[in-house]
Amino acid sequence: MSKTLKGMELSEEELIKYIADALTVKGYGKFEVKEIRESEGIVIFSVTENIECSTLKELKENAWKGLIVGMLEELAKEVFGREVKVKEVMYKCIKQPYCEYIVKYKE
Ligand SMILES: [Zn+2]
Repeated sequence: MSKTLKGMELSEEELIKYIADALTVKGYGKFEVKEIRESEGIVIFSVTENIECSTLKELKENAWKGLIVGMLEELAKEVFGREVKVKEVMYKCIKQPYCEYIVKYKE
């Protein structure tokens, strides 16, 4: 898969890195592509200095969260051209080393 985004022809890997870079530049945290499982349609992002979790100590899933998930959903939808599912699976706010988000773009 490749796609033209903002006038540039990008490979799938470049498109996924674009998601991480866009969120980092916007200041939501330091996003990195941790793993791409292409056959499963899964991308895993790790995030340090996540603005949500750095302000929420000791809170987990039901706290005020959803900003980063929402941003990831919007960007991934733009990049993959379809609905995606996003879930946070590691939480810096409960003292895990960083946050981790799984983006699933294939059924
Ligand atoms: Zn988090």
